[in-house]
Formats: sequence, structure tokens, C-alpha cells
Amino acid sequence: MSSSNPQHKLHVMFFPFMAYGHMIPTLDMAKLLSSRGAKSTIITTPLNSRILQKPIDVFKNLNPNLDIDIEIFDFPCVELGLPEGCENVDFFTSNTNVDSNYMAFKFFMSTSFFKDQLEVLLKKTRPDCLIADMFFPWATEAAEKSHVPRLVFHGTGYFSLCAGYCIKMHKPQNKVASSCEPFVIPELPGDIVITQEQIIDGDNESEMGKFMIDVRESELKSSGVVVNSFYELEPDHADFYKRFVAKRAWHIGPLSVINRGFEEKAERGKKASIDEAECLKWLDSKEQDSVIYISFGSVACFKNKQLREIALGLEASGTNFIWVVRENTDDKEEWLQEGVEERLKERGMIIRGWAPQVLILEHQATGGFVTHCGWNSLLEGVAAGLPMVTWPIGAEQFYNEKLVTQVLRTGVNVGATKHVKAMEDDIISREKVEKAVREVLVGVEAEERRKRAKKLAEMAKAAVEEGGSSFNDLNNFIKEFSS
Ligand code: UDP
Repeated sequence: MSSSNPQHKLHVMFFPFMAYGHMIPTLDMAKLLSSRGAKSTIITTPLNSRILQKPIDVFKNLNPNLDIDIEIFDFPCVELGLPEGCENVDFFTSNTNVDSNYMAFKFFMSTSFFKDQLEVLLKKTRPDCLIADMFFPWATEAAEKSHVPRLVFHGTGYFSLCAGYCIKMHKPQNKVASSCEPFVIPELPGDIVITQEQIIDGDNESEMGKFMIDVRESELKSSGVVVNSFYELEPDHADFYKRFVAKRAWHIGPLSVINRGFEEKAERGKKASIDEAECLKWLDSKEQDSVIYISFGSVACFKNKQLREIALGLEASGTNFIWVVRENTDDKEEWLQEGVEERLKERGMIIRGWAPQVLILEHQATGGFVTHCGWNSLLEGVAAGLPMVTWPIGAEQFYNEKLVTQVLRTGVNVGATKHVKAMEDDIISREKVEKAVREVLVGVEAEERRKRAKKLAEMAKAAVEEGGSSFNDLNNFIKEFSS
């Protein structure tokens, strides 16, 4: 590790929001920093520490001299008005008996309970910096008290951060006649077209909108932003972001590639719901680029009638597939006709629960990815060189979709027009699923997309290697905070 003080070992403290989509890249980031000679400490709650401990043990076994640990904070759910054990977003998104909107907001607000514990820990340990999640706006003030620089981790890429900024600044959604009328996002490089019902930055009035204003203000007072991306993926937006949006920013991704061997790749997040080796064996029996992988991340949960359309669309497409299904525990409607799974066994695998995603994406038989455009999944797909079918569900996923379909041109959209919560009884039909899957796997345009996707994967790989753009930005980061 290069440092202006060769005696000093950089100590970086990480504090991820308690959701898989935030904890997984934070864990990767902590591993990356420790592999470059720093001491990494991840702060989390008791139940979440169990999720992180296994992958940390695997990493330590492989690298016995590296320094990475967990610090546990109290999170008394019941006292905070949350159900017992509600320490992770997974708790209320997989259990549809609870009102997830109300719960999400309550959960966000409850995390400020950590502030006092954070102040005490920072005062005691004096790390060189704290990389705390965007959803912890109070962390900037807590760090300031001990003169510890606070960095923000959003978990998303430059493109969506810039899109959000431009929409907030120019409010183009107020100048269109209807919520489905397309408009170009002003100032954002690339003339990106979107609609009001796809954006998330229009609201300043609701409780959540006000919370997001706090998030933005705390970021402006912070020492900068750490981004899970690489320059070559979104150069115009990286430049725009560094020039106009954030005080400072360092890109150090794609973070998932820190996981090198089978065990590390298999042990991210939850325990897989299938035997990983069996899954790879199944993939081994398939031809190159012949399997489509379908996953909607760790949070999204479809109605059963949407699941049925996906099943029928996949069947009609005639392609090999691996489909990860997060079943809706509340919805009793039948979504898989009896016998279908049996009939499709040769060419389809349904994983109910958690899939070893990175292992599947990287397999040579996997030729396409139907994704909800969560940033981690999207970047994992990019790193694996895959063309995609984009199917955004909520959050900033429509922005990410535009990056794939309008800038990178490595994907086709399935036809999702608005956030799933606003869809009510609308669903994406089996015909649309079938068409998008075929389009991404076969044909001249599919080949062009695949070529572009493979090129991006090479660039991703080069970015993290010695001398690459992410490698260098991480060096800059290490130098700056070691001194
Ligand atoms: N993931 C996984 N297996 C699954 C579902 C998700 O390994 O069955 C991982 C995925 O590889 C990614 C993360 O969980 O790293 C999901 O993050 P993303 O930003 O894609 O979406 P979110 O879950 O936050 O909506």
C-alpha cells in the first residue's frame, strides 16, 4: 500500500445500510481495501453480522494476514417500534403480511438510533475515514465530532446519480402534459429520454422526499463519495458528476470482481437455495451463450399472476433458463401450472429463494440476463460480458435501464413503463417476455449487443488491474486518507 507515512496502516470503517444490495458491495469494498493493506471494520447489527461473518471467514482463510472485522451495534427493534428481528429490509419485503411502505419508512428512520453508538466508537478508535451508507445522513455529523472524514456510499453508478441531480435541478417532469409523456433529461450527457412515472427525484414534500433532502445535504457536507463503477463504463457521467455534483468522488469498481474463487463467489449474501455445484453442472451441460438468467434482486416480489406470465413467456421462448423466484408468501393464486416445471426440467431451472448469482452469470453457457437493473446486478452482468433484458421495478432502476439501453446499447427493455407499485393490476405479458428473451439471445442485433457487452467486460477487468482506472482511483483514495 502506498502511503505518505509508511508506518501508518490505513483504517477504514464501513457502515452499510441493512439490505443485501448495500451490504454485499460494502463487504466487497472492505475486502478490497484490506487486500490493499488497510484495516477494514464493518459496523452492523447482531443479526446482520451473521450474514457477513461467513464470507469474512472464507476471505480470512484464503488471506490469513489481511485485516477485516465486524463491529456490532445494538438495534433494539421492539423498542424502536419495529417487529422483533427486523434488522434487515429482507424482513419486511419477503413477508408480505406487513405493510412494506410503512415499514420501510419506519426502518429508515430507526437507523438514526445508531448515531450515539457511532460517535462513541469513532471517538474511541479514530479510524482514518468512515464510508457510511447514503441512507445514514446523520453519520456526517457524528464523524465530524471526532474529526473523522465521512465518505458516502450510494451503491449506484454515476449515470443515475447525475440523472437524479439534473432532474432535481431542472424539474423537467413539471413541463410535460402527462406522466407518460417522454422528455429529455436536461443537461445530462446523452439526451436521455425518460418519463415522469419512471423517475424518483420529483418529490420534496412527502416524508421520504424530505428524508432524501437530508441525504443530499449530508452528502454535501461530507468529504466525498465512493462509487462502485469504473470510468470506461460511463466516462461522460463520471466527468459530469465530479465537475458538477459531488465535491469529490472516487470510483473503485466493479467491486464484485474481488471475489475470485468458487467459495468466495458462492458465499455472497444468503446461503444459496440450491447446491451450487449442481447448478454449475447443469450449466456445463448447456451450449455456450444458450441460457438466459432471470433475477429481480433481493427485494422485489412479484404478484403470482406476473410470475405466471414469466413462466409462460419462458416456455414459449424455447430457450434454456435459470429463473430465481422470490415467492410472495401472501398470494395464494397458482402461478406454475402442475407439470410445467417437470416438463421444463431439461431446459429450465427454477430457484426458489437465493441463487449464486455471480457464479451463474460468469458461466460460459449463460448468454443473457433478465434484470431488474439493481446496480449490483447490472454491474455484475457487465463484468460477465452479458447482454441484458431490462425490467426495472422501482428505486433508481429506470435510470440504470437507460444507461444500458440508450448509452451502452447492450440491452433491450421488456416494456416496463412505471414502478411496480404504480402498476396495480397491469402486468408484463408473456408475449413481451418471450419477445425480449428471444431478441437478446438471437439475431444480428443480438450479436452486436453481445460484442459490445464483451468489450465492456474486458474494460471492467482492466479497470481493476494494476494501472487501471479503478485501481488508480483507489490508490488516490488510499494516499489521501493515509496521510
Ligand atoms: N443476489 C444474489 N442471489 C440472488 C439475488 C441477489 O446473489 O438470488 C445478489 C446479487 O448478485 C447482487 C445483490 O444480491 O449483488 C442484489 O443487489 P442489486 O443492487 O442488484 O438489487 P437489490 O437487491 O438491491 O434490488
